[in-house]
Amino acid sequence: MTNQSTTQPSVLITGASTGIGAVYAERFARRGHDLVLVARDRAKLEQLAGHLRQQHGVAVDVLAADLTQADDLAAVETRLRDDARIGILINNAGIAQSGSFTEQTADSVERLIALNVTALTRLASAVTPRLVQSGEGSIVNISSVVGLAPEFMMSVYGATKAYVLFLSQGMSLELASKGIYVQAVLPAGTYTEIWQRAGIDISSASKMMEVGELVDAALVGFDRRELVTIPPLQNAARWDALDTARQTLLADIKQDEAAARYKSA
Ligand code: NAP
Repeated sequence: MTNQSTTQPSVLITGASTGIGAVYAERFARRGHDLVLVARDRAKLEQLAGHLRQQHGVAVDVLAADLTQADDLAAVETRLRDDARIGILINNAGIAQSGSFTEQTADSVERLIALNVTALTRLASAVTPRLVQSGEGSIVNISSVVGLAPEFMMSVYGATKAYVLFLSQGMSLELASKGIYVQAVLPAGTYTEIWQRAGIDISSASKMMEVGELVDAALVGFDRRELVTIPPLQNAARWDALDTARQTLLADIKQDEAAARYKSA
């Protein structure tokens, strides 16, 4: 049993009732961090909290919240603003969506963006000023390789995950000098409930990653203070090449002049 909880920051994890978030909770508890677990399913959170208290001797609070609901989201923001023990935010709660762009309903698009984009951004925004004031802290945002791949035909989900990657890159540029570490984690297909919840049949899909392997790899990136961690990417140089290509493109943007190819019809 480990208990270094007085010397380590607490970790607030959204979407901690199952899947990637529940494994993050177990791994941080194992490292001796106290936890605040957030999701809708209070019973599941309480069950996990009891197990982690017993196994690892850490303090675990449960904050049941539907992050697509204004009051619940505000309560989690308040906790992040006010609880000075929380030094790490794992912004993990997210949903996927089945069906093509034309099949999606206004409600399902709204819910997806409310959770994957609005809640994630507001929670990061709520905790940041306090972390900046203390000069340290970490924010982990769970993106997805789908955010790099419009070819996967999950356009709205992928767009939310591209947003999370961009937000993380921007936050890191703004906050690293203030002592804040920001990480974007991009899993590929991982065995969790997300598929069933979204009504996506994965029975004939190619093999995916086990959730423990995913989180352990993400934590190696975390410990290395890596900005972008893509556990399933076999050759890290591919990401570096993409990022370099993006910066090369930016260097070729001339704000005050249209390109020659647009100067004649
Ligand atoms: P999951 O097993 O379905 O877990 C999602 C978690 O989010 C659950 O704890 C769920 O708990 C919570 N959640 C869902 N709606 C919520 C809401 N409205 N308010 C608060 N919490 C809510 O999914 P996962 O695979 O672990 O996904 C975690 C993150 O990884 C997501 O951001 C996902 O996009 C990303 N990701 C997953 C994969 C993959 O293949 N699994 C790949 C790339 C990225 P409650 O139901 O109790 O609220």
